[in-house]
Amino acid sequence: MLFSELSLPHPLLTAVTDYGYRQLTPVQQQVLPLALAGHDLLVSAQTGSGKTAAFALPIIARLTVAEPLAANETPSATPKALILTPTRELAQQLATHFTAFALGSSLQICAVYGGVNFRPQRQRLQQGVDILIATPGRLFDHLSQDYLNLSQLQFLVLDEADRMLDMGFIKDIQRLHKWLPIKRQTMLFSATFPPAIRQLGQQLTQQPQWVEL
Ligand code: AMP
Repeated sequence: MLFSELSLPHPLLTAVTDYGYRQLTPVQQQVLPLALAGHDLLVSAQTGSGKTAAFALPIIARLTVAEPLAANETPSATPKALILTPTRELAQQLATHFTAFALGSSLQICAVYGGVNFRPQRQRLQQGVDILIATPGRLFDHLSQDYLNLSQLQFLVLDEADRMLDMGFIKDIQRLHKWLPIKRQTMLFSATFPPAIRQLGQQLTQQPQWVEL
């Protein structure tokens, strides 16, 4: 199947083809139609399978057609999509992909992760963010101060959930619950589904569709 056969907004399709993608990978073929239709998803997919585009494109597609910021609205740290990922390197890679796919839109993309100064990240968030990519520990550092507001979140993605479990982040993710709006689309990607990940999936998703590759 070709990307041009999906009903993606025109600027997004151009960005994807300019990035060199023509044909969907198997995970994209299974996930994209379900994600574009708004389903919650539990996906077993390996690193390198093309899962980034499987969750990034539906998010960008939906947010691109949404209302732009009203003239009298000031930008604020109220992301509409949150992508949680285990490591700084993955966060940076995700930011690169999202930025490339969102070329031609006015979406603001920001990645926050540990091991670097906190203050520049805070300043960047306060300038306005639509899509926030974060490692769990640093996300909580930002949440514990009061400027980051997740109440407008429409999308939550857990990327490489089993690695986040191995790194001890699951408690942090469970604590996140109280900041999240009930109505949102949640997609969980993991190479393996041990009991703790299944339980987390049940806690965070509503009537999820399973995709197993
Ligand atoms: P990911 O699993 O999303 O990290 O993707 C693994 C690698 O495959 C990355 O270098 C992607 O840019 C590339 N990739 C993902 N989907 C496609 C596609 N449909 N066509 C060509 N390359 C792709």
